[in-house]
Amino acid sequence: MAESWVSSILLVDGSPADLLALETVLEPLGQRLVKASSGEEALARLLTEEFSVLLLAVELPGLDGFETVRLLRQRLSRPLPPLLFMAAARRDADHVRQGYALGAADYLLKPLDADILRTKVSVFLPLHLAAHRAEEQLRFQASILENVQDSITVTDFSGRIVYWNKGAEALFGYPAREMLGQTPQLLYPDQDSAALIRDMERIIEGENYVGEWRARRKNGALLWVDIKTSLMRDASGKGVGFIGVSKDVTARRNAEEALRESELKYRLATLAANDAIWDWDIASQVLHWNLSVQTLFGYAPHEIEPVFTWWHERVHQEDRERVTRDIDGVIERGEQKWEDEYRFRRRDGTFAHVVDRAFAVRDATGKTVRMVGAMQDISQRKHAEHDAGQAFLRAEKEKRTAEIFSRLGLAFASELDREKLVQRVTDEATELTGAAFGAFFQNLVNEKGESYYLYTLSGVPREAFERFPMPRKTLIFAPTFEGTATLRLEDVTQSPGYGKNPPYRGMPEGHLPVRSYLAVPVKSRSGAVLGGLFFGHPEPGRFLKEHEQLVEGLAAQAAVALDNSLLYLQAQRAISVRDEFLQVAAHELRTPITSLKLKVQSLLRTAGAAGPPLPMEKLHDRLEDVDRIVGKLSGLINELLDISRITAGNLRLTLEEVDLASLVREVALRFEAQAAQVHVPIHVMNHNPLVGRWDRLRLEQVVTNLLSNALKYGSGRPVHIDTQADGTHARLRVRDEGIGIAPEALSRIFGRFERAVSERHYGGLGLGLYITRQIVEALGGAVRVESTPGQGSTFTVELPLEPASAQATS
Ligand code: ADP
Repeated sequence: MAESWVSSILLVDGSPADLLALETVLEPLGQRLVKASSGEEALARLLTEEFSVLLLAVELPGLDGFETVRLLRQRLSRPLPPLLFMAAARRDADHVRQGYALGAADYLLKPLDADILRTKVSVFLPLHLAAHRAEEQLRFQASILENVQDSITVTDFSGRIVYWNKGAEALFGYPAREMLGQTPQLLYPDQDSAALIRDMERIIEGENYVGEWRARRKNGALLWVDIKTSLMRDASGKGVGFIGVSKDVTARRNAEEALRESELKYRLATLAANDAIWDWDIASQVLHWNLSVQTLFGYAPHEIEPVFTWWHERVHQEDRERVTRDIDGVIERGEQKWEDEYRFRRRDGTFAHVVDRAFAVRDATGKTVRMVGAMQDISQRKHAEHDAGQAFLRAEKEKRTAEIFSRLGLAFASELDREKLVQRVTDEATELTGAAFGAFFQNLVNEKGESYYLYTLSGVPREAFERFPMPRKTLIFAPTFEGTATLRLEDVTQSPGYGKNPPYRGMPEGHLPVRSYLAVPVKSRSGAVLGGLFFGHPEPGRFLKEHEQLVEGLAAQAAVALDNSLLYLQAQRAISVRDEFLQVAAHELRTPITSLKLKVQSLLRTAGAAGPPLPMEKLHDRLEDVDRIVGKLSGLINELLDISRITAGNLRLTLEEVDLASLVREVALRFEAQAAQVHVPIHVMNHNPLVGRWDRLRLEQVVTNLLSNALKYGSGRPVHIDTQADGTHARLRVRDEGIGIAPEALSRIFGRFERAVSERHYGGLGLGLYITRQIVEALGGAVRVESTPGQGSTFTVELPLEPASAQATS
């Protein structure tokens, strides 16, 4: 650098001849020679350019040499180059001293000696070179400062930035000209001035400040900087400002953040291998799950949508608002953690209790950008807690149920009024199940043999039901009315049969809103379906297994009570029938006895009277009347005896070979006289022998009963009797064309004391058909009737040719 060094020498003289002379003398030094002819011109040169030597004439036009130097000293920030004054010889010593006082290196008198001048100037040149080198070094150091990657700034005690290097510009984006004079606070949004002042005070006291601050670049981007600030001192050691060195550590912070985050994830993953881990990117709303979400809650992979709303929708409606609010709060306040307990919907629609714990992940600016959480299924624990609480409730409930049952039991035992009973069952069952409404449909058969329903309601007014047709044997109702099974549905509208049945395809409009459904058949001891108990609730999932069991228990009890009430009804009826019978019997017995008495009294009168004796013929007639009446009486008494025998189970059979065809002919013959009296023909259709092992006398009784009824109720029209063999059976048919029998009475007339006619029109005890059936059944056969009212009746008896009855004795 020294070798190539060329310096400039400024020559200042008012005389052009002297300037030329100087130039000539100094030329051999090989330096650049700059000439000025006045103090002003010299001043201007020196202010803009650097010179290694200044040759200045004292006498100048305008400003003289001294005045020029004085001005230079004021204006020039750097030191003056070595100064050589040139003066005319006539100047006094004081003048010379004044020149030196102004910092002159020499004071040369004119005329100048060329050699001396050249030597003196050349002496000053290396001096300047050395100074220049020092300066160069400083400049070099400054350029290092300038070019160093780090930001170097100096702030004076008034808080103004006075130095701003290239690194600072690169780091913060502001060029020096924009930052000089500004305060550093502009750069650090997080630091308030009070904190800055505190830091400065500590630095002034001698501490070095080290920290990491968030800074804002000129373009608004935020970054993390590492800052070291120390006191800058002058040569005397006095503090003059703060020197700050900063560098960008955003990348490192991000890396650390990423590491923390991955550690966090790892920790979550190891902590909770069975938990459902989620990772939610808040800006994009993308939310990823690990596999556990499938195993814990039953979702298939394709059913899981990786979005926030998928999770959000599955949070229980009652928890959703709270949960959402809490998460939002954590995000807004920039908190680190969130934790909550809520219900989360499983694939099957049920809810799991979960504990969800999450960590917030924040970006360099501190904004929460992600949340990573682990969801743990605590349903079992919840259930255990719940169960403990429930155990008490359950005990209470069981007590109440027991009370209801015992109350009902009492009611069932005492309540023989069907209607009240059924209402009671419906009400209590509705209460027990917590149903919104309940109904009991009783399956009944009318006189025409058609089934219909009587229903009892609880929880809803009758009008709510009346608009709807009777339950039809749809998929939903069939199992109950057929008595096959209890049906409990979480949600009717979700059941496979729902909506399949025309005409409504679901619930008719205005139907009671039913979602939860429970129906239990009520079956009698004999297995007959007495009806069904139905319960509904507008919310799904209300009926539990326990309700089902309760109602089944209740249904069983209700069935028994209904059976009992039916038996009671039957017993009541039987009693009234028997009372009626006793009247009828008394009447039936009194009538022949009265006429017998009259006949006998008349005979006695005749026998005791004076006068001609009664002719034998007449006596015979009267005795025949008596015999007929006695025969009738003994017939009645035999019927009564048969009844008591049959009731006592003492119907003894004596089996022998009997020809039914000839038996029928014999009985018909006995009726001949009676029939002839009323002009009724009896047609016996078949005369082929029909032999089987039967009890002859009992069989005669059967034929007698059927034939006498046919004559009695035959309206005086012909009676037809027919016997036929039918494989292993013999068939006897007795047909009349008389009054016939009403359909509702058909099954009844074979009962004891049962009659389908008024006693005023037709005599009888109502025992003939009962005895007939008992005999036929004892012989292993059956009797039935077909009839059309007003057109006649046909009684058919079927008897096995060989009765297998153990009752029979031969
Ligand atoms: P009784 O004839 O003494 O009343 P039964 O037991 O023989 O008693 O008959 C029972 C009832 O059945 C009768 O009261 C009558 O109403 C009806 N009944 C029986 N046979 C006939 C018939 N052939 N035609 C019409 N009704 C009949």
